[in-house]
Amino acid sequence: MKAAVLTDHDEVSIEDRERPAPGPDEAVVRVGACGVCMTDYHLYRGTFPAEYPLVPGHESAGEVVEVGDDVTAVAAGDRVAVYPGRPCGDCHFCEQGRQNLCPDLVAIGGAGDEILDGAFAEYVRVPAGSLEPIGDLSYEHATFAEPLGCCIRGVDQADIETGDTVVIVGAGPIGLLLLQAFRASGAGTVVVSEPVDHRRQAAADLGADHVVDPTSTPLSERISDLVDRVDVSVEAVGLPDTIETAHSITAPGGTTLVFGVPPQDETIEIDPFEVYYRELELVGTFALTPNTFSRAVTLLQGDRVAVEPLITERFDLSGLQRAFDGMADNDGLKKVIYPNR
Ligand SMILES: [Zn+2]
Ligand SMILES: [Zn+2]
Repeated sequence: MKAAVLTDHDEVSIEDRERPAPGPDEAVVRVGACGVCMTDYHLYRGTFPAEYPLVPGHESAGEVVEVGDDVTAVAAGDRVAVYPGRPCGDCHFCEQGRQNLCPDLVAIGGAGDEILDGAFAEYVRVPAGSLEPIGDLSYEHATFAEPLGCCIRGVDQADIETGDTVVIVGAGPIGLLLLQAFRASGAGTVVVSEPVDHRRQAAADLGADHVVDPTSTPLSERISDLVDRVDVSVEAVGLPDTIETAHSITAPGGTTLVFGVPPQDETIEIDPFEVYYRELELVGTFALTPNTFSRAVTLLQGDRVAVEPLITERFDLSGLQRAFDGMADNDGLKKVIYPNR
């Protein structure tokens, strides 16, 4: 089979590999489609630590072609989305349903201490327990179950109440999914801040009540003209500066959600008296859980989240390099790879 392999940082090559065979509790999936995520880009650039060679790709869906002897929950021919992790299943965090914090979590094609080969390949081998049936949802749309599952995790962490005012900083593919996930969860007014014109337009089209260009007027100055108070402020960029901005506009009693992946070992300034006196919350959200993954599939099946407008480029495996080049320049939105095309 063909696979896109990161052979070193900044190096992708298309290789011929043996098609994987399933272990007793595993399945092999013929990959219908796999989204390209910033995590793949970081693995490619070497800004997330990883051991090469490595096949990235953790936003996939496809058809089960083979299952191991002990597998009963899925069978060949099933259409599935792949939850890209293998949690240990019996640590404190797994028992709480917080598999994203499992210290022994193995990533499939994503970032982690241990990474198994992912889905930028014609076939991928996965634990059968990581498969979610998708019915007649298209593979292309089902690839959004992973990023949307991360966004649902974020919404859960933000603990919003119906009618809350939400600000989202950053309208890349994730910001645009967060916007829709918050709306589906009862957000009242939603404001999106984004410097790139076409992304701001996409946010407006997908239901933002206000869109703001922070390069013309800083968000912290503009926000009081638009809303009375910010209950939940979401940072979906991953920069210390924008996290500080998001935190600075959060109203007393409100929550700032750190969603974007910040650089490691950086610091931000926080006034602890304000945190105390105004009951401010600063909350992290990391990746997703099997539960939020499954809920994401439900939202996609019910057409509660529009993903078609987020897909701007489609490539076969050899296009992965071009997808990475485009991401370096913030071109377009979501890029989707079709390994079997
Ligand atoms: Zn991802
Ligand atoms: Zn665990």
